[in-house]
Amino acid sequence: MLKAPKAALAFVLVALALMMEGTLDANADSKLPDPVKAGVAEKLFRLDCGRSIANDESVWTPGENVGRRVEFSSTCWLIKRGSEWLLWDSGVPESAHNDPQGWSTLPKLIVYHLDKTLTDQLAEIGLKPGDITHVAISHTHGDHIGNMGLFPASTILMQRAEYDWINSGNGSNDNVNQLMALARQLLGTPKNLRLIDGDADVFGDGSVTLVSTPGHTPGHQSLLVHLKNSGFIILSGDVVHTEENFKKDIVPSLNTNKEESVASMGKIRHMIATYKAKFFINHDKKETDTLKLIPAFYD
Ligand SMILES: [Zn+2]
Repeated sequence: MLKAPKAALAFVLVALALMMEGTLDANADSKLPDPVKAGVAEKLFRLDCGRSIANDESVWTPGENVGRRVEFSSTCWLIKRGSEWLLWDSGVPESAHNDPQGWSTLPKLIVYHLDKTLTDQLAEIGLKPGDITHVAISHTHGDHIGNMGLFPASTILMQRAEYDWINSGNGSNDNVNQLMALARQLLGTPKNLRLIDGDADVFGDGSVTLVSTPGHTPGHQSLLVHLKNSGFIILSGDVVHTEENFKKDIVPSLNTNKEESVASMGKIRHMIATYKAKFFINHDKKETDTLKLIPAFYD
């Protein structure tokens, strides 16, 4: 009679030990912060880094919205943490400023307009490009790295997979090949390049975390920011383009990997729950237009 409960107890203990080991290992491997212990950044500013018009939304929503005109926002974000300033993406090139013809990464597909320069928006809070200590880039599409030339002394943070990809040979999608060529040109050869493998805690205190979300491109990443009053905010990069796509798991045809794209959206959903995070979608113009704009900020 005693044997069965003892065996059962032993089984439970072993199972518990295994579960705990699993948990500890998972924590040791993950660079994502502990939601309770994470440090905070002081300020998060949104910068208007362009807007774009495309004449066929179905490129971003395969099977839906064929031939429909769509307008996207391009957003950069600036984070103040102590004496550090981290810029997230650098937007449409300043050379496009007030150009009625606009600028394009894929001329038949999309045209970008820039109403305000990055330099002028930094000046609104008394900063010069040289004050930016870090530039982290979500991925290497031209509308996200158009102004890397303004930041020759900054530490550039990008995924190694992204860097290796744009420096590899062409694939079968000509649009993608064109984007890779433009990426190499716009990125140039940064002096202080920090290549990241997976998730990474930028300042070592859980305040700002690079989150690997591949699929749109092979080394795409998103950003998790922790603020004292606003809590956790996730900046999307292009892990998803619109709220609608996020709801329906829709993957744009330009993405380099569909399965990875779906998995990355799942990772973000999981993080929104874990961190009770707000999620700001870079290109969703309707949503972006409702958010604070520099010199206003989130704290
Ligand atoms: Zn984009």
